[in-house]
Amino acid sequence: MIHNSLFKKYGLEAYYHPFHVKKETLAETIHAMKLLNIAGFNVTVPHKERIIPYLDEIDDLAKMIGAVNTVKNESGKLIGYNTDGIGFVESLKELDNEFINKRIVIIGAGGAARAIYFSLASAGVKCLDIANRTENNALKIIHAYPLNIETNCLTLNQLEQSLHHYDIIIQTTSVGMEPNDHQSLIEFSKLQINTLVIDIIYKPAVTKFLKNAEMNGARIDNGLTMLYNQAAYAFQIWTGIFPDVSKGITT
Ligand code: NAP
Repeated sequence: MIHNSLFKKYGLEAYYHPFHVKKETLAETIHAMKLLNIAGFNVTVPHKERIIPYLDEIDDLAKMIGAVNTVKNESGKLIGYNTDGIGFVESLKELDNEFINKRIVIIGAGGAARAIYFSLASAGVKCLDIANRTENNALKIIHAYPLNIETNCLTLNQLEQSLHHYDIIIQTTSVGMEPNDHQSLIEFSKLQINTLVIDIIYKPAVTKFLKNAEMNGARIDNGLTMLYNQAAYAFQIWTGIFPDVSKGITT
């Protein structure tokens, strides 16, 4: 819906279509994309990491993140990018212009957390902690590259006790997503006044996590702005046009 609306808006003769690709047929699918001279495509769960060996080149940020969500076909050469993290950073700028100097914690250490961590670090954030169920997955992120950044790894219990320490809290796990929208990873108390709490889930629009945060005085935002912004960067990679997605997409 996002990309087809944008193609129409900018008068481009292009069409975006979802394909269900099984892991056993990933190699053939990519070969077919090349044969059919498809101009570009997105990649989603569970292929974001496993597509990498099949591509001809990987952009530096995507290499650091270790995952690709956008591919451009340049004269038969497939180049991989990651726009999830930069899409998130763009949405954060809209919510807090001063985010670089803020104390930030990311909850989760999966693919989305990795994209957000390296993109925030690349944007210049210095205090960026990770709280995750499995400590080792958080450690893998911070040990992947030597970065000029201070990161502590916390358990979810430790985070609950130190929520007041953060200006921005970013929930990146799939906990609370439909149909499990009755779930929330942590309990809120001791929030600073005006803490910004973001959940990158957008279905439901307001997760239980966000509801609880709001009841404890937080400013909240969901994952829709990130979704639009990652799409805007992908659209720019394919077409050279950075589309205006600030008011959502209208057909
Ligand atoms: P993923 O790679 O599978 O990572 C899942 C993370 O969630 C891991 O850190 C995992 O912890 C944690 N987790 C899962 N179940 C848990 C549970 N029951 N208790 C505690 N922790 C749990 O997934 P992903 O690709 O990062 O995606 C995560 C979410 O982000 C999804 O809801 C996805 O829809 C959303 N997303 C949104 C956008 C957007 O544009 N808004 C973009 C990308 C992703 P362990 O390390 O302990 O296993």
